[in-house]
Amino acid sequence: MENKIFENLSKICKTINCINDELDIIKYSKDWRGRINEKALCVVFPKNEDEVSKILKFSYDNDIKVIPQGGNTNLVASASPTKEKKEIIINMEKINQIHHVDILNKCVEVDAGVKIDDLNTRLEKDGFLFPLEMASTGSSQVGGVISTNAGGINVLHYGSVRNNLLGLEVILSNGKILRLGSKVVKDNTGYNLKDLFCGSEGTLGIITRATLKIYPRAQNYFTFIASFENLKNVIDFYKHISKELRFPITGFELIPQISFDLCIKHNFMKKSFFENLKNYYALVKIQIDNLDDQIINLLQEKLYECSNLYSEIIIAQNEKQNKEFWKFREDLTEAQKLEGKLIGFDISVPLDKLDQFFIKGKNEIDNILKGIKFHTFGHLGDCNIHYNLIEPDNLKSNFYEYEMDLKKIVNNLINELSGSISAEHGIGLLKRDDFLETKSQLEIELMKNIKKTFDPKNILNQNKIFKL
Ligand SMILES: Cc1cc2nc3c(=O)[nH]c(=O)nc-3n(C[C@H](O)[C@H](O)[C@H](O)COP(=O)(O)OP(=O)(O)OC[C@H]3O[C@@H](n4cnc5c(N)ncnc54)[C@H](O)[C@@H]3O)c2cc1C
Repeated sequence: MENKIFENLSKICKTINCINDELDIIKYSKDWRGRINEKALCVVFPKNEDEVSKILKFSYDNDIKVIPQGGNTNLVASASPTKEKKEIIINMEKINQIHHVDILNKCVEVDAGVKIDDLNTRLEKDGFLFPLEMASTGSSQVGGVISTNAGGINVLHYGSVRNNLLGLEVILSNGKILRLGSKVVKDNTGYNLKDLFCGSEGTLGIITRATLKIYPRAQNYFTFIASFENLKNVIDFYKHISKELRFPITGFELIPQISFDLCIKHNFMKKSFFENLKNYYALVKIQIDNLDDQIINLLQEKLYECSNLYSEIIIAQNEKQNKEFWKFREDLTEAQKLEGKLIGFDISVPLDKLDQFFIKGKNEIDNILKGIKFHTFGHLGDCNIHYNLIEPDNLKSNFYEYEMDLKKIVNNLINELSGSISAEHGIGLLKRDDFLETKSQLEIELMKNIKKTFDPKNILNQNKIFKL
């Protein structure tokens, strides 16, 4: 039976399988955080939408489960198998053409397998950008970032991927090709099916092509990093500059002191930017096209007005320093990975309740296990924090044994404070129980009915988000 499947798929496109190519199969099956050990039956590499359509038709007719996969950088195990040698991974890396950069309509038509960095390298030639900025864009692909509705550091000004998606080509589970939207921003014609695919984590169809909004590149940025005694001051500072600075804040990132410690310990940097260590830092990016001395003086005056809130500010003096600041921010996820076992939460909480969340969360978590390292950083301007708990040094037991108890604390607090248990990473496999606990029965039932409409035989990314 297996050999028959491999034979049929090989006729459509390049196929590697669990019998002859085990090491490669393991590479594509593993999730980024290394929590999943199941292996795929095989991995296929289609080169165009017709090949995707044929693979899906074959899988549909033969009841074989498939998993769409982009750069496999998701942090919730949403592109990995859930059953040993039963599922086919459809890897999209070979469908990777940039078709048309349309300056007049400010959009680009692009294949699902194009990496975000490659897209931006191409757009830069015309002075444009696709405004998704996060540490994984060297690997993350267009189809992956749409399927996860990725966020990153620019959401504050440009919105998430959903806000920048104009059109889609999707292959449905039975192999039919569906085209949605176009180049136009305004299109109020019935239900918005295109947006349904955004954030659906490969459970409704396979995206093969998209039309995305693009923007003229900003001429200049004013970037600085400030240090603070406590979180409340960071939040008050954010409130002050949001109101007083008359320029768009495109990024406002919270960074705790431990971020510097981890980056120094794991050789991502030599020393902190600051002589005097503080509990928190904010890395801030402000978009200003005509950044001249007069504007810089004005900005400095505005920052001085709230100098009671921060301890020190370092303003990037040149592009080199600007890059150093953002490289530090980008290294945080990699640095924490080297520190030990991690239980990660990707939460959002209204800003007026964030301080309360931090204080209550730490108290309750300390009661469960002492010595946990709180690496809690992220997109504060979007109310989104990567609330990462790293195992204590010299822990004798397995840190993951505490996962259920820690989840209970965090999820209860999120519910109490009207936040979200997954701000930008999605649900996948790792957040499935949290999702079921925090959504209403009615909402889950409606989502399951949508899934059944698009994928009646449940072949697409089974068991992700919820089980049918
Ligand atoms: C260091 C690091 C930093 C990160 N920072 C951020 C951040 O700041 N903001 C953020 O939002 N995320 C962040 N992420 C998470 C991750 O990069 C995003 O979730 C990204 O959007 C996933 O893209 P991908 O191509 O790797 O998709 P994959 O991981 O391959 O897949 C993700 C999901 O999309 C589905 N999928 C993939 N391609 C398709 C397709 N063509 N059609 C249908 N379904 C498809 C998969 O089945 C899966 O469910 C980070 C990850 C890392 C490792």
